Amino acid sequence: MTSDNLRREAAEWLAENWKGERTDDFVERVVDARLAAPSWPVEWYGRGVSPDESQVVAEEFRKVGAPGAGQDVTNLWANTVLAFGSDALRGEHLRDLMLGRTNMCLLYSEPGAGSDLASVQTRADRDGDEWIVNGQKVWTSSGRNADYGFLIARTDWDVPKHRGLTFFFLPMKQPGVEVRALRQATGDSRFNEVFLTDARVSDDNRLGDLGKGWSVLQTALAYERAVMGESMQRRGAQSDSGAVRDSDDEANAPIPDLSLVELARDVGRSSDPVIRQRLMALHSLVQVNRWNGQRAKAELEQGTSSSIVSLGKLAMSRILHTAGSLQAELLGAEGMIGGQDSPRSADATYAMLNAFFTSIGGGTDQIQRNIIGERVLGLPKEPEVDKGVPFSQVRKAAR
Ligand SMILES: Cc1cc2nc3c(=O)[nH]c(=O)nc-3n(C[C@H](O)[C@H](O)[C@H](O)COP(=O)(O)OP(=O)(O)OC[C@H]3O[C@@H](n4cnc5c(N)ncnc54)[C@H](O)[C@@H]3O)c2cc1C
Repeated sequence: MTSDNLRREAAEWLAENWKGERTDDFVERVVDARLAAPSWPVEWYGRGVSPDESQVVAEEFRKVGAPGAGQDVTNLWANTVLAFGSDALRGEHLRDLMLGRTNMCLLYSEPGAGSDLASVQTRADRDGDEWIVNGQKVWTSSGRNADYGFLIARTDWDVPKHRGLTFFFLPMKQPGVEVRALRQATGDSRFNEVFLTDARVSDDNRLGDLGKGWSVLQTALAYERAVMGESMQRRGAQSDSGAVRDSDDEANAPIPDLSLVELARDVGRSSDPVIRQRLMALHSLVQVNRWNGQRAKAELEQGTSSSIVSLGKLAMSRILHTAGSLQAELLGAEGMIGGQDSPRSADATYAMLNAFFTSIGGGTDQIQRNIIGERVLGLPKEPEVDKGVPFSQVRKAAR
């Protein structure tokens, strides 16, 4: 089937089925019509078409604002299970993952392993057909409601750190898994620490080969970046139309209003030349980053993976920090009042503190700079003192 035919079919299907309501039932029909992930194999909800052809379906859905398509790019959970799971695991979970019926979390970071993720010390030891897992994870978004977690654990301590890792699809609702909410500076509790004490996972739930967890993780991270890229684009679009506040959804932090012009008018400072200059600087950063995003998207569409994504993430972090501090400066002393007495100063405080969300999550600003330095500017690589050394002999971070 050519892309033109596929585009036509998607448009006709939407004309018949899309009534403007984002319901679970609609997404189910998208999956059943094999429009959710057309580049997947026919035996797994797809049509076996090329990724480019698949994109035309996602484009038709975007045009009318309908959900459910493009999952072969954006559904990190389902794509990773499809790529590395056994047929039994795919059969049990793929459909529910596509329909968003399974709650998931990422069990990667640990107190001593964040930027240097290959240093994880959570261990999985074989016990017949199962693995016994012990250790601690931290920063786990959506951990409290999760049914399953993508777990990276050490299964071999006698090889260099990247080679002794294995990736699992861990059931979260079991006695050996304790999830404790973490309280953030903003007052939110959007992530958790997870304590694993003799937790059990079947070998059937292993994703990829034993000791190959690092490469599974790279695939999962690539899908995660695609999701972040999409959500940043949505953020960019929404920030044009003002502040968007959501509920206490554990995973999604509210999106700040980046224009701040209204606020400057409200507080009578819109003709202050210094404030005008700062507003304009912020506007320019947002605009340049939008162009940068388009450039990264164009490169990705041509099939080249782009370090421009790192530039975009770094820029977003700078934009959010700049916006937060400008918002507080506009309010002056009023910015010190908290809570319901002054919702707009509570907003400003929130924006300032929450900016760290972007400068830490998904790779810190410093790590993005390392990537830009090495891959864009061609600077020498960071020295790796533990290269080739068995993990059991590497000095570990204190726990
Ligand atoms: C909003 C949010 C959601 C998250 N969700 C999840 C999740 O669901 N699951 C999960 O597993 N994790 C999650 N994380 C964790 C996140 O991936 C880590 O916080 C991040 O990778 C940084 O690790 P760390 O906190 O251990 O900091 P560290 O790696 O200990 O870094 C501490 C400081 O040292 C700097 N640093 C470290 N190494 C270098 C280096 N080589 N060169 C220069 N500077 C360096 C860092 O930039 C940082 O400033 C989340 C984090 C945030 C903020």
